[in-house]
Parts: sequence; C-alpha cells; structure tokens
Amino acid sequence: MLFSHIAILTGAGISAESGIPVFRSEDGLWEQHKVEDVATYEGFMRDKTLVHNFYNKMRRELKERKPNAGHIAITHLQEEMAKRGGSVTIITQNIDNLHEQAQSHDVIHMHGELNSVLCEHCGKRFPYFEDTSVESVCPHCKQKALRPDIVWFGEIPYHLDEIEQALFKCDLFIAVGTSGVVYPAAGFVGLCRKMHKPCLEFNLEPSAVNSSFTRGYYGKAGTTLPQFVEYLLQKDSLPDKL
Ligand code: NAD
Repeated sequence: MLFSHIAILTGAGISAESGIPVFRSEDGLWEQHKVEDVATYEGFMRDKTLVHNFYNKMRRELKERKPNAGHIAITHLQEEMAKRGGSVTIITQNIDNLHEQAQSHDVIHMHGELNSVLCEHCGKRFPYFEDTSVESVCPHCKQKALRPDIVWFGEIPYHLDEIEQALFKCDLFIAVGTSGVVYPAAGFVGLCRKMHKPCLEFNLEPSAVNSSFTRGYYGKAGTTLPQFVEYLLQKDSLPDKL
C-alpha cells in the first residue's frame, strides 16, 4: 500500500448529515446560545443549570442520531487497512459517539464526550447517559460536583500525547468537516506538513487553514469520503478530484 498509517481528524462537519448541527453558524451561536455561555468554564460558573440543560438536550438527541456514509466509509477504511497490516487512527473533536456507533475503533476524543461526566471534586471521569444537574451526585466521592465532560474553550484537550504519536506515525493526514479555527486541532495540518506528509482536506468549502493542505475535496463528506475510500483502496493512489 502507498500508505501504512493514516491519521484522520474529524470535526462537526462529519456529523452534520446525521442531523447534529455544526458549531460555527454564521451568527456565531451554537444551537441558539452564545459560545461563551455554554462552552466556557466562566459560563458554567455563571449559570450551571443552563449549561447542564444545554448538554442534557444534546445527550438526549444523540440517542436518535445514526452514523452517516462518511463515518461508515472511515470504518471501512480502517478494516481494510488493518487487513493490509496498516492502521487508521481517528482523532475527533466531536463529542458525539457516531464513530463508535459506526463500529470504528482507535477513536481519540480530544474534546470530551457527551456520554461522559467529570467530577469537579474528585476529578474522576466516567460514562454517563442520563441528564445531569447541580444536584447530581458523584458515585465515587458522593459530592454534588458533576459537570459535562466537555473540553471548553480555554481548557486543555485530552490525549495530546497520544495524538502527537499518531501524527508522528502517520504517512497520510486527513481532516474532515473541521473549520480550522479551533486550536490545537487546527495546527495538526501544519505539524504534518513540516514532516512532509501529504495532507488532505474534506469540507464543504476551503477551511481557514486550507492553504496548508496538499489537496482538498469539496462537497458533503457523506458523498466524498466513500468515493475517496473506494478509489484509494482500489487504485492505491490519491484521486485528483472526486
Ligand atoms: P465547526 O462547526 O467549527 O466547523 C464545521 C465544518 O464542517 C465547517 O468548516 C463546514 O464547512 C464543514 N461542514 C459542514 N457540513 C459538512 C459536510 N456535510 N461535509 C463536510 N464538511 C462539512 O466544527 P469544528 O471545527 O469541529 O469545531 C467545533 C467544535 O465544536 C468542536 O471542537 C466540537 O467539540 C464541538 N462540536 C461538536 C459537535 C459534534 O460532536 N457533532 C457538533 C458541534 C460542535
């Protein structure tokens, strides 16, 4: 195979066709809320109930969401690469579980997960599928100190060591459905280019860091990704366009 180890960074755009709204709508709101109210620690301190309810709604809605052809194409690529002695690591900024629902493995959630909570008192993170509130009790330390296990703006993403290893190891870097404005994820393409790795962007339109990519495929990821995966697996080369 032309490539042995592929790292795929996914963002909100890969889940858009599954009915989960993306983050940066043109008015700068996330599901009708200001980002600073629902995606910062300061916002949580100002109004914990509002923030709990915001993620409760998304967690409930996630139960109805299903992976789309883009998630499934990545799983197919992962399975085929494994048969050929290679690997695909998925680094996702998404807090949904659609890669897992599509039976992908090696999924690194750098911004946390909707189906997880973090105890501010004892620091434990654990799976959680129900609504949370200021009254929710941590089963480990028995304190009322649970918060959504989401990496908010100004907080340090999870698994950065593991991500760095995947970026160093890969011989192809792919970014799907990410706007290229949220760091450090937006900087991964620059790091890979410094190491002279080919970097591909899949998006509806060129992202903020588009000039760093070697090639871009524009259109819905649910259409372009399956076409790309078939081409790569059959021809063992990169398509000029899709
Ligand atoms: P973003 O919302 O900032 O950008 C989404 C990008 O996807 C845009 O560049 C858009 O052009 C592109 N896009 C939209 N529909 C697409 C499609 N069908 N096919 C291909 N591309 C498409 O997303 P981001 O860069 O991931 O940053 C937002 C942050 O918000 C993330 O860190 C994440 O934590 C959070 N978030 C997560 C979810 C989720 O879990 N599904 C949803 C919204 C926001």
